[in-house]
Amino acid sequence: MVLATVLGFPRIGKQRELKTALERYWKGKIGESDLRNAAADLRAEHWRQQKAAGLDVVPTGDFSFYDQMLDMTALLGAIPPRYGWTGEGVDLATFFAMARGAQREGVDVQAMEMTKWFDTNYHYIVPEFAHDQKFKISSTKPVDEFLEARRLGFNARPVLIGPITYLLLGKKEGGGNLALLDTILPAYAEILQKLEQAGAAWIQLDEPALVLDLDAAARAAYAKAYAYLRQATKAKLFVATYFGALGDNLDAALALPVDALHLDLVRAPQQLDSALDRAPTSLTLSLGVVDGRNVWRNDLGASLRLLETAAARIGKDRVWVSASCSLLHAPYDLDLETTLDPEIKNWLAFAQQKLGEITTLTRGLNEGRGAIADALDASDAAVKSRANSPRIHNPAVAARLIEQPLASAGRKSPFATRSALQKKRLGLPLFPTTTIGSFPQTAEVRKHRADFKNGKVTPEAYDAFLKAETQKVIRFQEDIGLDVLVHGEFERSDMVEYFGEQFSGFAFTQNGWVQSYGSRCVKPPIIYGDVARPRPITVSWSRFAQSLTEKPVKGMLTGPVTILQWSFVRDDQPRSVTAHQIALALQDEVLDLEKAGIRIIQIDEPAFREGLPLRRAEWQAYLTWAAQAFRLASTGLKDDTQIQTHMCYAEFNDIIAAIASLDADVILIETSRSQRKLLEIFTAFKYPNEIGPGVYDIHSPRVPSEEEMIALLEKASTRIAPAQLWVNPDCGLKTREWPETKASLEKMVAAARRMRERHAGK
Ligand code: GLN
Ligand code: ZN
Repeated sequence: MVLATVLGFPRIGKQRELKTALERYWKGKIGESDLRNAAADLRAEHWRQQKAAGLDVVPTGDFSFYDQMLDMTALLGAIPPRYGWTGEGVDLATFFAMARGAQREGVDVQAMEMTKWFDTNYHYIVPEFAHDQKFKISSTKPVDEFLEARRLGFNARPVLIGPITYLLLGKKEGGGNLALLDTILPAYAEILQKLEQAGAAWIQLDEPALVLDLDAAARAAYAKAYAYLRQATKAKLFVATYFGALGDNLDAALALPVDALHLDLVRAPQQLDSALDRAPTSLTLSLGVVDGRNVWRNDLGASLRLLETAAARIGKDRVWVSASCSLLHAPYDLDLETTLDPEIKNWLAFAQQKLGEITTLTRGLNEGRGAIADALDASDAAVKSRANSPRIHNPAVAARLIEQPLASAGRKSPFATRSALQKKRLGLPLFPTTTIGSFPQTAEVRKHRADFKNGKVTPEAYDAFLKAETQKVIRFQEDIGLDVLVHGEFERSDMVEYFGEQFSGFAFTQNGWVQSYGSRCVKPPIIYGDVARPRPITVSWSRFAQSLTEKPVKGMLTGPVTILQWSFVRDDQPRSVTAHQIALALQDEVLDLEKAGIRIIQIDEPAFREGLPLRRAEWQAYLTWAAQAFRLASTGLKDDTQIQTHMCYAEFNDIIAAIASLDADVILIETSRSQRKLLEIFTAFKYPNEIGPGVYDIHSPRVPSEEEMIALLEKASTRIAPAQLWVNPDCGLKTREWPETKASLEKMVAAARRMRERHAGK
C-alpha cells in the first residue's frame, strides 16, 4: 500500500489566527493560556484538515510559536548565556527573547540572528554555539504535541530538524560546527527515546542540508550521526531532504541506516532514477511530486506516470506520495480567493488543494487510474488550458526577447565615457549626498492609503494628498541640502506589488499569505503569464516631483531579479526567461523616464543575492542571467542618463564581480552593519564605478554622529577614490519617524561637507 503524507503544514492559520494571537500576547492583551489555547486549536484544526483530505499520517511538531529551528534550540537547551536562562524548561519569555529581543525592567537583550531558510523567503533563528556548547533536553514540546495529536485520534509522526542540518545552520565561536556532533547526539538520542516511549512508530528528521555542497567530513558526520541514532531507538526513522537534488550526496543519503528517505522531485525530478536504482531494499522512498513552495496545480497525469514507474520498480509498499517540501511555504486555501479570475484560479493549488492532490495520486497508485479518472481529466483540462491560454502567451513579448540579444544588453558606451558626460550634465559636488528612495510612511500616509482602498477617500483626494506629501519631501530635501533628491515613494505600499499591479501577467490574491518570520507573513504576487508594461507606471510621479525643483530627482524602480524573487513564479518556463521579460517591461519605463527629462534612474535590487542557487556549481549561470536582466532594463539609454542601483543586508563579498558586471553608474550599498567586511572587499576588488557605502543604519531610530559618518567615509576613501564616493543612508527610510530622519540626514549632509573641504583639490 502506498501512503499519503506531508512533511509539514502551514501553522499561521487560515485567517492568520496565530499572528493575531501572538501579537496580542506580545502587547499584553492576552495571557499565556489564551495563546496556548489558540495554538492548540490551530494544530487540531490543521490535523483534522489533513486527515479529512485523506492523509494516512499527520506530522506533529511542525507547529511553532516562532520558528522550527528556534524550537530545536529550546529543546536542546542551547540558549545563549545573555538570556540569563537558569537551566530548567525554557519558558515563553526566554523563547520570545531569543526570537525578538527583550526590553523591560532590568532586562535588555538583543534577539538572536535571523536568516533565510535555504532559498525560501522563510527566516529561521540561527543557533549560536559556544566553543564548548552543552546540550540538555529543555522542552517537552515534541512529546506534548505528539500526544496531543494521538489523544485527538490522529495517526501522528513527530518531526524534528535532524542533527547535521541543525549544527551546520548554526554559528559557532571559531567555526567547526560539526565538532559538536559527539555532544549533541546523546541529546538527540534522548528525544528519540522519549518519542518512542510516547508511542511514536515513525520519527521524521529533516535534513535539507543534504542538498547542499558537503565536504567529506560532513558526509562522514551524517553516517556517524545516523548510525548512533539507529542504535538509540526502535522507532522507524524517516530522513527528509528538500529544496534540491541530493546530487553527489545521494549515495551518502541512501546509505544512512534509516527506514525512509524523502526526495524533492519538483526541484530535482532527475534524481528519481538513480535513487530507484541504488536504494537498498529496506528503504522506503517518499516522493515529493507536488510542489510545496509554489502555487501551481499539479499535473496529476505526469506525476502519476512517475509514481507508477517508481512503484513498478521498488514495489508499492516502499512508496509514499508527498509534497516536495513542507507545505509551510505555500498559502493556505485557494477556496478563500473570491476575486481571482476563474481561469487563473483553475491553474492554482494552495496547501489545502495540495493535500487533495497527494491523496488523489495515492489512490490512483493503490486502486488504479480508473479510481481517479475524473480528477485526471480535470487536471489534464487545466494543464491544457494553461498551456494554450492567450492570457499567458503574448507573442510580442517573445519576439522582443529575440530581437534584443542578451549578450549585448547594456549601456551604449563604457563607464568612463558615460561618467564624464554625466558629471557635466549633473554638476554634482564631490561626495554627493542622496537617499535610497522612501521617506517615512507615517500613520497618516498609511491611513490615507487604507481609506482610499476602502473607498472612503476619492481617487482625486488621495492623489492630492500624495502630491502634497511629495511636495513636502522635495522641499525638505532642498532645505537640508541633499544633492540628489527622491520623490519619497508615498504612493507605494510595497516595492514589488506596486509594479506587479501595473504589469500584465501578474495576479494578486486576497489571502495568499505565507510565513516570512515569526508573526510576519507576506502575500507574494503570482506571475502567471508573459510580462509586459501596458502603460507608464512611475513617470507621472517622477515628472511631478522633478517639476518642483532644479536639483535632479531620481526615478525609482524595482529591479527584475527582486520582482522575480519576491513573487510566485511561473513554472512553465525558466526563471531566467521570466526575469528577462520583467526587464523588458522595466526598460520601457526606464526609457519613458528618460524622455520625461529624468536624469538619474535608480533600479533597486535588494534581492539580487537571494536568488543564488544552493549549489555553487550553479552560481555562475544564475549570476550571468541575473546581471543580464539588470543590464537589459537599462539598455537603450543615453550615456548622460545615470543608472543607480541599491542592494542591502546580504553578503556581497563572493558576488562582487557579478555586482560590478551590472554596470550601474552608481551602487548604493548597505555597509553600516558589516563595514569592515565590505571595505575589505574593496581592497581586494577594484570596484570600477561609483559607490555609496551606506553611512548609517536605518533599522534603528538612533541618530548617528557626524564624526562616525566621517570616520566611515575616511576609511572608505582609503580603498575607493573620493571622486567615486557617494554619501547616503544604508536603505530606505520608510520605517523611520520624521524627527530622527531629519536629525540623521542633517548630520549626514554636514559630514559630506566636511569631507569635501578635506578632500578638495587633493
Ligand atoms: N527604494 C526602496 C526604499 O527606499 C528600497 C527598499 C529596499 O531596499 N528594500 O524603500
Ligand atoms: Zn535596502
